Amino acid sequence: MKKFRQSYSSQIKTHIIITAIIAVLIIGILITIAVGYRTRSTETIINVSTAVSMSSAKGTANAIGSYFERRISILTNLSYLFCSCENAEEEEIEKILNYCYNMNLFDDIAYINKEGIAYHRDGRVKNVSHRALFRQGIIGEKTTFLNIDNEFDSGNYDIYSVPVYNENDEIIAVLSGMDTPLSVEGVDYVEIAGNADCYYLVDERGTILMAPENSPVRLRVGDDIFAKTGDTKGLDYYLNIREASQSVVTDVNGEACIISCVSIPGSVWSLLAVTPYDVLKSYLGGMFVITLWVVIITIAVIAILTAVLIIRMLGLSKHFSGYVAENKKSYYVDEITKYPSWNSFREHYPDFMKNTGTSYALISLDIDKFKTINDSLGYEGGNEVLRQLADIISRNINKTDMFARNSGDLFYILFAYDNISDVRNAVSNIINDVDYMDKTVKMYVCMGVYLIIDHNTTVETAVGRANLARRSVKDQKQSSFAFFDNAMIERIRDERSIESIMEEALIKKEFKVYLQPKYSLEDGNELVGAEALVRWLHDGTLITPNRFIPVFEKNGFIVQLDYYMFEEVCKLQKKWFEMGHRPKVVSVNMSRLHLRSKHFVEDLVAICNKYDIATKYFEIEITESAAYENLDILLSVFEKIKNVGFHVSIDDFGTGYSSLNMLKDLKVDVLKIDRSFLTESADENENASRIIACVVALASSLNISTICEGIETKEQADLLKKLGCNMAQGYFFARPMPVADFEKLAYEN
Ligand code: C2E
Ligand code: CA
Ligand code: CA
Repeated sequence: MKKFRQSYSSQIKTHIIITAIIAVLIIGILITIAVGYRTRSTETIINVSTAVSMSSAKGTANAIGSYFERRISILTNLSYLFCSCENAEEEEIEKILNYCYNMNLFDDIAYINKEGIAYHRDGRVKNVSHRALFRQGIIGEKTTFLNIDNEFDSGNYDIYSVPVYNENDEIIAVLSGMDTPLSVEGVDYVEIAGNADCYYLVDERGTILMAPENSPVRLRVGDDIFAKTGDTKGLDYYLNIREASQSVVTDVNGEACIISCVSIPGSVWSLLAVTPYDVLKSYLGGMFVITLWVVIITIAVIAILTAVLIIRMLGLSKHFSGYVAENKKSYYVDEITKYPSWNSFREHYPDFMKNTGTSYALISLDIDKFKTINDSLGYEGGNEVLRQLADIISRNINKTDMFARNSGDLFYILFAYDNISDVRNAVSNIINDVDYMDKTVKMYVCMGVYLIIDHNTTVETAVGRANLARRSVKDQKQSSFAFFDNAMIERIRDERSIESIMEEALIKKEFKVYLQPKYSLEDGNELVGAEALVRWLHDGTLITPNRFIPVFEKNGFIVQLDYYMFEEVCKLQKKWFEMGHRPKVVSVNMSRLHLRSKHFVEDLVAICNKYDIATKYFEIEITESAAYENLDILLSVFEKIKNVGFHVSIDDFGTGYSSLNMLKDLKVDVLKIDRSFLTESADENENASRIIACVVALASSLNISTICEGIETKEQADLLKKLGCNMAQGYFFARPMPVADFEKLAYEN
């Protein structure tokens, strides 16, 4: 019990430990993820930022490049309109300029002749021969100048210039188209960190040509990018990063920025994406925070679900372990006695056997006829008896021993001993305590002891042998015990072999009727009848009933055998009757098992009828111990037997505990006084004589005849005659004999 509780609480502990480990692991994983994520995120923000900056810059540079290309291409198309203007009149040129202007392709447009004289659509003329846009254009270059002043208007313009060819492909002039300076809106900017205000167009010397109006890093058109950055590496560095298409983190106006430099396709300029790191970080950080939140919430949800799951599982397992514990409890604790159960006994038995230095006895104990106790006390009363018995066992064995109820009223004790006398004492003490137990019914216990010699003996073997010993003391009408000996095994083997052949033996008529004559003690010792006693003639050997009757009593085969014997006797009676002999009453032994059958008497009558023999030629012997089973049934069966005309005798009278008082209720004809009365010592002889005299007197007063069994000497015969006994049976007169011998004895004289 204690062991069981320990193992249960240790199970709970294991549960808690496992749960704690899981919890710590989960928390650990979460912390690792969080820390790792935090560490990685700074790094990642930089990496992602530079990547974003670079790819955005590339995208935007391409967009600007193609924008410029588009503008140049449009202007080139317009230039074809001026192919024949080499020697044209001013008005002619103005006319074409206005025509182009009205197309709304450029904000303004100017035609510059070979000499560098620029013609405006409104008739104004300016000399721009000094300007790069003219000088490059007149040698065939297509140019773009951003944010430069316009000869015809105040304010800066982006000016595109293309050469004008005549029909012979000779450059005759330069055409300029003017745009308001390129702005964020003008280009398909790829936004960085949610805005476009981070692009700067710089020329090949690092001078800013174009800057957003709200430059976050306060860079203006005309500024030297390198003057503003913390970089001292100069133009080469700028060219290098451009070459490598790299992003760098550097200070601009004292602010950490990520700069990506990309060349604008079709030009010598570069696009710088200059984004303050903080802006990127807060933007990307924001995204990261969102991602982080998503991750955290996901983890939290998973964690909560896991926790709920664990709690539920714990709850369930608690519930379950409670259930298991309940079951385990009933598994290890006997429900009736509340002492450890047989399961516990069986499980712990091997542990005891490991103590090779200790000698153990396995004691089997049960209550003789516990069923009758249950019948008279009721189920609860029977249980109470079992509890008291368990208490008795418990206090008569050592604390270190163990015992358990196997089933019903069967207990097993594993008893450690030094001397065999220890075992005897314990067993005797238990028997004593049972005798003095507070009980309303008679109760005897039977105990069998097996001394375990080999510690490898299994519990089954030990129990089996103790049981054999116990069974050998059954039906003793007193508490008793026996030690196992190997002869018991022999006996069991013998029983088995008997059982295996008994039915065949009956069919083969191996059972023979022997007859023991009965003599009158009154008139000249006349042969007045006989008792039929069974003999088994098997393979030429005659087996006496002591060897097989108890086996048949146990397995019920006795019922068949008795009917067989009865029928054989019927046949004999019929034969003798037909031979003209004066019939003699023959008694047939009937096992008390017949009392259980409702048609027992009818069966016997039917057999008599079959052979047409009157029932009065038979005497039915039933042992006194049958009264032990159920007196009421015995009384009614005796009455029935008598009513149909059989004689009835109580066999082995005086061996049981039936009282003389019982006699007056029993309708019997004959009392068979057991031969044990005659085998007493000389001293006791006197007492026995008195008892016999008493019994004989009482019987005769009740009109019951008496016969004494087992008379072996003339003295005994004389004594019984003197005591008034009516008949005698015994070796002194005649032994049980084969039918032929009996016939000679009874009918040939
Ligand atoms: P029981 O009914 O008490 O039979 C008397 C037993 O005493 C017989 O033993 C008999 O041989 C023996 N006996 C007779 N005179 C003397 C004597 O002077 N000295 C000694 N020592 N013994 C004497 P048996 O034939 O061995 O039968 C043993 C028991 O077997 C019988 O005891 C009876 O209870 C049972 N039995 C025998 N045949 C049958 C049967 O057909 N049916 C039933 N149910 N039981 C039978
Ligand atoms: Ca008998
Ligand atoms: Ca007898």
